[in-house]
Amino acid sequence: MPEFDCQETKRHVHEFLHNELSEAEIVEITAHLANCDSCEGDYDVENVLNNVISRACADMPPQDLADAIMNRVREIQNGVAH
Ligand SMILES: [Zn+2]
Repeated sequence: MPEFDCQETKRHVHEFLHNELSEAEIVEITAHLANCDSCEGDYDVENVLNNVISRACADMPPQDLADAIMNRVREIQNGVAH
């Protein structure tokens, strides 16, 4: 899974708002948003996150998706995958 840079993330947020992303992509994007000052200025991360979770009705229960996102956010913050 490639790490998304700011440009990729912004492109994908648009797709994501149209519900066209996989769960793995959603996790990567929200993790980037939560860890990036530049993107954080452009997007209300909490709003985006709530939006994602309320829409995620497919395979993963919303709580699992939220956990996956938070784990990824922490990984990046700890420098595990940065
Ligand atoms: Zn960014």
